[in-house]
Amino acid sequence: MRNIDYASKQLNKIRNRISQAAENVGREASSVVLIGAAKQQDAALCEAFCEAGLEALGENFVQQGIERQKVIPRQRVQWHFIGKIQSNKTRLIGQHFDWVHGVDRLKVARRFSDQSAGNSALQILLQLNIDDEASKAGIALNQAPQLCDQVAQLPNLQLRGFMLIPKPNRAGAERRRPFALAREALASVNQRYGLAMDSLSMGMSSDLEDAIAEGATMVRVGTDLFGQRPAHQD
Ligand SMILES: *Cc1c(COP(=O)(O)O)cnc(C)c1O
Repeated sequence: MRNIDYASKQLNKIRNRISQAAENVGREASSVVLIGAAKQQDAALCEAFCEAGLEALGENFVQQGIERQKVIPRQRVQWHFIGKIQSNKTRLIGQHFDWVHGVDRLKVARRFSDQSAGNSALQILLQLNIDDEASKAGIALNQAPQLCDQVAQLPNLQLRGFMLIPKPNRAGAERRRPFALAREALASVNQRYGLAMDSLSMGMSSDLEDAIAEGATMVRVGTDLFGQRPAHQD
């Protein structure tokens, strides 16, 4: 199958899942942005997905994103940095991306703010470590209000909300809980500090329906969109 035909077919499949999930809770499908989590995928394949209508790409590795931008023009789609942020890469990330999902320290937010002076505002999401997992980045839920308050005051940035990667394989009614907690935290922090955060980046291949049911405004889908990831090479 040609790349473009494969891309159209896959995109259709995921869009249908998004529409169905949104409809189930009375939301508009257009209120959910689909981010193609593109790590390790071939640039030509990603380009075909953009050609087929994908509007946002998510990158875990700065260099892969920069390489891909040689094939897919920067202005053509939204670029989201969804990987682990090394503080010595903040300048490059700020130059090459529109959104940064994994901010979890004031120091890193300050670097983005200082380094992006003069550029258009970088859109920032704070990462919640919703299950308090030692292996994962992100702040505990109870640290979120203070960090939001601090980051919201920095110039050259726009604090838009939260991203999270909950533990997989929850059972039944527990599946939606982490997403509900994030939604509630967003509302309560907005109210407490008079902020207008409007974005929740949550939901991946296996749980996008649960995330959308709880208000996800962006889902980051890799495997079920592009197909199995090629092995990591570096
Ligand atoms: C890889 C990745 C995804 C997509 O995961 P899939 O399960 O393949 O859909 C989403 N978010 C982040 C941060 C990722 O690294």
